[in-house]
Amino acid sequence: MGAGLAGLAAAVDLAAAGCAVTLFERSRLLGGRATSFQVDGVEVDNGQHVFLACFTEFIAFAHRLGMGGSLRLQDRFDVLALSRRGVASRLRTAALPAPWHLLVSFLAYRHLGWGAKLDVARALARAREARTASGTFGEWLARLGQREEALRGFWRPLFVPALNAPLDRVSAVDAAFVLLTAFLEDRGAARLGYATVPLARLAEAAAARLGSARLSTPVVGLEVPSDDRAVLVLDGGERVTVEAVVAAVPPPQLARILGRADRYGLPPLEGYEPRPIVDVHLWHDRGSLGFDLAALLDSPVQWVFEKAPGYLCCSLSAADRHIRQPTAELVRLCWDEVTGAIPPLARATLVRGAATRSPEATFLAPAGARRPGPATLRPNLAIAGSWTDTGWPDTLESAVRSGRAAAAHLLRSLGRTPCATR
Ligand SMILES: Cc1cc2nc3c(=O)[nH]c(=O)nc-3n(C[C@H](O)[C@H](O)[C@H](O)COP(=O)(O)OP(=O)(O)OC[C@H]3O[C@@H](n4cnc5c(N)ncnc54)[C@H](O)[C@@H]3O)c2cc1C
Repeated sequence: MGAGLAGLAAAVDLAAAGCAVTLFERSRLLGGRATSFQVDGVEVDNGQHVFLACFTEFIAFAHRLGMGGSLRLQDRFDVLALSRRGVASRLRTAALPAPWHLLVSFLAYRHLGWGAKLDVARALARAREARTASGTFGEWLARLGQREEALRGFWRPLFVPALNAPLDRVSAVDAAFVLLTAFLEDRGAARLGYATVPLARLAEAAAARLGSARLSTPVVGLEVPSDDRAVLVLDGGERVTVEAVVAAVPPPQLARILGRADRYGLPPLEGYEPRPIVDVHLWHDRGSLGFDLAALLDSPVQWVFEKAPGYLCCSLSAADRHIRQPTAELVRLCWDEVTGAIPPLARATLVRGAATRSPEATFLAPAGARRPGPATLRPNLAIAGSWTDTGWPDTLESAVRSGRAAAAHLLRSLGRTPCATR
């Protein structure tokens, strides 16, 4: 159940291992939180998604579906950072081993003075300590004496969107994982990538591999009477008997479907905090601006993407303040932000604007909580979802990893051979 990337990744692996798979999805769309739909006659993603080169399972999944050619991945990490006054500076990697690969452009990075650069360098040198640090990432940075300039020019632009939360809301441990995995362990790991086709194409390619996908079909209950039989109760009362189930829905829905999670040996599913993202789509008359993506400093817009000549998508992570704002206000706000930061837009005219809102874009586990893995007390029920215990924050990579882990677990516990696909 659940046709997000976790459910789809599980389903594709189960189908590849010879299982007859039926997917049950509440929405009329495939892809869950990584989907696309029509807005005023144009297909837009529900929100601009970025992946990194270290998202190895997500990238391999796209390749397995024949969609590898629809992913664009930078040859090297290269971020254009724009200040509100239109000052541009790049952070990009050089051909040096990590962590020195960022050094040259970091020294030339115009958005930090020397004091702030030293602050950041000091924190980077001690990044491994954050893996076991208590408290939030914001507290850890404060303990290392990071001043406002370092937060504004470096830590917030990179880490608020990566973790979709303010620095004082994410644990130091989670932020350390991102910092080490993306920036400090492998020179190529932080290269940015995005899909060049609407996100729903990826989900459709996955669903095409399955026996059937029942859309607009919410599962409202689950019974597991024996180790080789489970009954899905669908909205409207239909009962579907299957041999085994992967439940790949977010924690609040899983809690409702299962009733008591502890019956299945799962930790509490309450307390996962939904974190919002807002995307604002702007169409203007200036044509191509010549960049693919840029970070905006000191702005509610963390990233702006040039999706096509004349079409910008502004991504607002940790968007608690904006999630309920009317579209006209969001469009005005973002247009002001991009025209300030991107000088060629100063004389452009805004032709059209739209907003997409995701109040539950990611889920943050409660502090100290144990995220469940795929296993439950029943051999024929496995759990998946980007919020589960994959070692990754709630991302595309975590979703695919969790789905594959759930499928492998189910096949093992049912005595089948997990598929060895890459
Ligand atoms: C706007 C936005 C921007 C994002 N940006 C990024 C990014 O840049 N990089 C990144 O890595 N990640 C990003 N994410 C997060 C990423 O999309 C998610 O981590 C990932 O897609 C989650 O996949 P999932 O399969 O675990 O969950 P979901 O995609 O939530 O899938 C769960 C599915 O279960 C279905 N469902 C729920 N209840 C039921 C029910 N009762 N019966 C049947 N089906 C049900 C839902 O409809 C949904 O389709 C973003 C998310 C959003 C919304």
